[in-house]
Amino acid sequence: MAEFRKQPRFRTVIDPALVERVKQLVLVARDIVITCHVSPDGDALGSSCALWYVLKALGKTAHVVTADCAPRSLQFLPGVRDIVAATRQADRAHELIAKADLIFCMDFNDPSRVDRLTDALTSSKAKKIVIDHHLDPCIESEILISRPEVSSTSALLYLFLWQAGWTRYLNRSAAACIYTGMMTDTGNFSYNSNDPDLYLIVHDLMRKGIDKDNLYKLVMNTASESRVRIMGYAQYKMQLLPSHRAAIITLSEEELKEFDYNKGDTEGLVNVPLSIPEVTYSVFLREDDKNCVKVSMRSKGDFSVSLMCEENFDGGGHTNAAGGEFHGPLGKALEKLLEIIPNYDKYLQ
Ligand code: 5GP
Ligand code: MN
Repeated sequence: MAEFRKQPRFRTVIDPALVERVKQLVLVARDIVITCHVSPDGDALGSSCALWYVLKALGKTAHVVTADCAPRSLQFLPGVRDIVAATRQADRAHELIAKADLIFCMDFNDPSRVDRLTDALTSSKAKKIVIDHHLDPCIESEILISRPEVSSTSALLYLFLWQAGWTRYLNRSAAACIYTGMMTDTGNFSYNSNDPDLYLIVHDLMRKGIDKDNLYKLVMNTASESRVRIMGYAQYKMQLLPSHRAAIITLSEEELKEFDYNKGDTEGLVNVPLSIPEVTYSVFLREDDKNCVKVSMRSKGDFSVSLMCEENFDGGGHTNAAGGEFHGPLGKALEKLLEIIPNYDKYLQ
């Protein structure tokens, strides 16, 4: 009779030795800080808050400390109200990081991604554990769990918790946080979402009592009037470069003012041109001020916008979603973009 072999439940397996070491570090830690990238998105906040609930359930003292606040659309997320954001509570944020003996870095790969907390993070003596899915991690850490093939840090956190035997510490709030991160980093399971593990995780989270349909509504249906208007205006003025299979959207400081722009109002805008079959990649330039243009890019297939951002806009990210910055006015940023675009034609399939 063939020997029965127990198959691992998930395809993605984290090195069990790493999982054990994380458990040990957590068990001996006295003051734990969890942090994530600036302008936190659903995955950054979801993974951070979920971990916070688990650590609390383990009887640990833990705080989520971030560079800035959650966007309006994520204010509903359980745990968000307890976050210490440096824009609002600078002293407390620095104090908690200085006091911490263990710091979890969730959903970012580079210390500069915590913005105003970068110095505090790099000079901290705390042991650091990175759980992330961005390419090329460069945070000095005790333990690195970096899996770029996993679509969200929240899913990766779940896989860690499962291997650690800690999913029993996930309450409904923490489950909602993990689901939100998985949903937002996959466009509600419409890209990077072919991994069957994801649906086993969703199954488990639903068994914890989450209302997934309501979570979608809470994240998606919170637009302000300014968001609806600015999204329409920006799409109307989109430029297409058919010979380069590119789309460009720009918004100047003046336009942002005119539309009463609030942070988060253009979330997802850069994805919209990808719905045109002829467009392989899309670029959004937002002039935050005359010396800083935020660059956002999205692409399809193997075309790497991360490479474009790295090589030209002091940024990076993933193959299909990347960003960076340009120091100068919008006109100059656009000029540079138009100049470099032909260099990437060779990567178009
Ligand atoms: P978004 O376009 O939503 O701002 O960012 C998409 C992805 O690009 C992020 O998840 C992050 O990986 C990356 N990214 C965005 N801005 C920057 C940046 O200024 N520097 C780096 N290294 N990566 C960025
Ligand atoms: Mn993420």
